[in-house]
Amino acid sequence: MPKKIIATASLAGCFGCHMSFLDIDERLLDLIELVEFDKSPFNDLKEFSRACDIGLIEGGCCNDENVHTLINFRQRCRVLVAVGECAIMGGLPSLRNVIPLQECLAEAYLHGPTVAGGATPNVIPHDPDLPKILDRVYPCHEIVKMDYFLPGCPPRADLIWDALVALVTGQELKWPYATFKFD
Ligand code: SF4
Repeated sequence: MPKKIIATASLAGCFGCHMSFLDIDERLLDLIELVEFDKSPFNDLKEFSRACDIGLIEGGCCNDENVHTLINFRQRCRVLVAVGECAIMGGLPSLRNVIPLQECLAEAYLHGPTVAGGATPNVIPHDPDLPKILDRVYPCHEIVKMDYFLPGCPPRADLIWDALVALVTGQELKWPYATFKFD
């Protein structure tokens, strides 16, 4: 069976989902018998080199660069998977969604208790090279069609492994109730 091609990306996430992926530990050796990695932080490949079978997305979209990356993944990956709560529903970064963007920026850069005073007036960064921050944080499925969702913050390594094996081999993924029960 030819190896499946996998790409991964972290958008507005903390890389915890990627860390959980690595927690499959020695099964990584089994994985590389089944798949090859294309664009991913795992191999530091910045651009796609070919069409991919599976795209794994960590994090939602908080800026225009995230949106561009996600659309690019949708175009390049046959199957796109939202990995973790940030990708599925915005997660922790989306706590700002209840506060107007300008108030968030003012608190972060002008008036917040951790903003350093000094001779130079504080400014909200506005360099044109910086990604443009969106009005709110968007879960991935509000930007592009997502095919599968792996719950958890982060999803457990066993769940990531089982999902990958199911996707690569075409088997049905059976999720026990404990997958969704976090207490
Ligand atoms: Fe980090 Fe949790 Fe978001 Fe994954 S779901 S990127 S672990 S905060």
